[in-house]
Amino acid sequence: MRIEEAAPGGEGPERRDAVVVGTGVCGIYQLHRLREMGLDVVALDANPAPGGTWWMNRYPGARFDSESYTYGFSFARELLEEWTWSERFSGQPENLRYLDFVVDRLDLRRLMRFDARVEAARWDDARGLWRIEIEGARPIECRWLFLGIGVLSRPTMPRIEGIGDFKGPSFHTYHWPHEGVDLAGKRVGVIGTGATGIQVIAEIADKVGSLTVFQRRPNWSAPLNNGPISADEMADIKTRYDEIFATCAASPGGFEHIPERTGFWEATPEQRRALWDRLYDQPGFGIWLSNYKEIFFDETANAEFSDYIAERIRRRVTDPATAEKLIPKDHGFGWARVPLETRYFEAYNRDNVRLVDISETPIERVTETGIRTTAEDHELDLIVYATGFDAVTGAFDMLEVEGRDGVKLNRKWTPDPSTWLGMMSHGFPNLFTPSGPQSSSASVNYPRSIEMCVNFVSTLMEQALARGVERIEPTQAAEDAWVRHVREMYDMLLLRKSRSWFTGYNSNIEGREIGKVRHIVYNGGAPKYQRILERTAAEGFRDLIFDGQAPRTPEEVSPAIPVKA
Ligand code: NAP
Repeated sequence: MRIEEAAPGGEGPERRDAVVVGTGVCGIYQLHRLREMGLDVVALDANPAPGGTWWMNRYPGARFDSESYTYGFSFARELLEEWTWSERFSGQPENLRYLDFVVDRLDLRRLMRFDARVEAARWDDARGLWRIEIEGARPIECRWLFLGIGVLSRPTMPRIEGIGDFKGPSFHTYHWPHEGVDLAGKRVGVIGTGATGIQVIAEIADKVGSLTVFQRRPNWSAPLNNGPISADEMADIKTRYDEIFATCAASPGGFEHIPERTGFWEATPEQRRALWDRLYDQPGFGIWLSNYKEIFFDETANAEFSDYIAERIRRRVTDPATAEKLIPKDHGFGWARVPLETRYFEAYNRDNVRLVDISETPIERVTETGIRTTAEDHELDLIVYATGFDAVTGAFDMLEVEGRDGVKLNRKWTPDPSTWLGMMSHGFPNLFTPSGPQSSSASVNYPRSIEMCVNFVSTLMEQALARGVERIEPTQAAEDAWVRHVREMYDMLLLRKSRSWFTGYNSNIEGREIGKVRHIVYNGGAPKYQRILERTAAEGFRDLIFDGQAPRTPEEVSPAIPVKA
């Protein structure tokens, strides 16, 4: 199976069996599985170290909103036993230390190559190989290519005049300087109030001289309710990992938060309120994911719950006019990914914090000394752009991925991606995207989804290697069926109406401002996705073309497990 020995220092491309691009959560686990199969594999990362999103996002307040102990890898008992989480929702430094620990414990670092920016990957159909072009380095040829390049790894800056004119420091949160920033006494402006903006604003409000928040649209948000994990609690968690991960696997979001069983309309208004009071004080996503299922698809139920959260915001913000500005009016709670906060709303009660509603007084331009809106000039020492990402497909667009017959992946995925189970794409043989569009990676507790996806493609690889298969590609018909299913899931949920990255909206990218939904996320939930993957494997991956062989009919494959998707 090994394609050829690598020719170290030799002429021409380096040869490997497999290449993984990215060394974040996805790349780490995928690399481990491929090495376990005995493949000659290397992982490439443009960063100087592993960690992906947790390497990059150094802004103050960056932390999990998944319970830490549900975020760690579940596949290796020794990792679970040896690692101790200090907080229920741990912060970026600890999260990065954890990923470093995993890399070293599994002895993966020597298979990783850093400062290696992949520019292109081109399929050589005659030879059945991918050619990986790396900035300033020798290309690599490989049979199997895995892209674990993140779902939120391409930041987007606003299209505002004068950004380059500002004389002080300014950066996107994704590029927060690793050496830290002295905020004391500084006049800081933050643009953006998504999950990132909400974390950074709450964290720095009492550390800066003054803080001006430029908000275009508010977001629904609820308390994170973080706290330390005591030694006793951690010891208990370590005895319960099997149970914890089983609960995550059974929940749509891949968390410990299980949807409320009672129907919204079966409960009285008082019972509903009692549930919401309880959930509001609970840690994590319970307020969203342990709620009545109806809030995800029934607009009336959602409106009643949104009114409840609006009341909570009014109680927490002293100035009624500011409170009203912080309450979304154009969408309901949970239509978009919910940011969780720690004393975010209270930040606006501080004398040094000011909310500027740029839907009323839009930004005209950035000047040498600050930000000019239609109403006034705001003098600033530092500007922070918390303006989001070209989500899910953005990282893929940064590489030139060229498949069979010269077809480019970014062309194929414009305006809407088209994949098989979110993990392969017709016309791109031997290319796997375990964190790719239309997988559950963006909609489920990330590592829980990544383990599902990596386990699936690894099972496929093991079977292919055992059978001596050298080329795998999904049929167009199977891909079309998956895309239809992905769209049906969007159609069922209120989130289809939101202007958020889940629907492909990003005002900073031409053509993505309004209107058409991009179906970039699988919204069917973790258990359903897992059932589909299990059934696909049990049926012998009959949607795939192996070495040019037409897929087998259902009768020819091993008996299907009757699983209802
Ligand atoms: P985001 O949710 O897309 O929010 C971007 C914000 O910037 C929005 O408030 C948006 O306003 C504003 N904005 C964008 N362009 C603008 C412009 N040209 N002018 C003015 N305002 C502009 O991005 P994000 O906050 O980085 O979060 C993205 C995702 O990252 C989250 O949904 C979450 O999945 C993940 N995340 C996770 C954590 C965690 O706790 N683990 C923390 C942070 C982020 P509009 O709404 O008006 O467009």
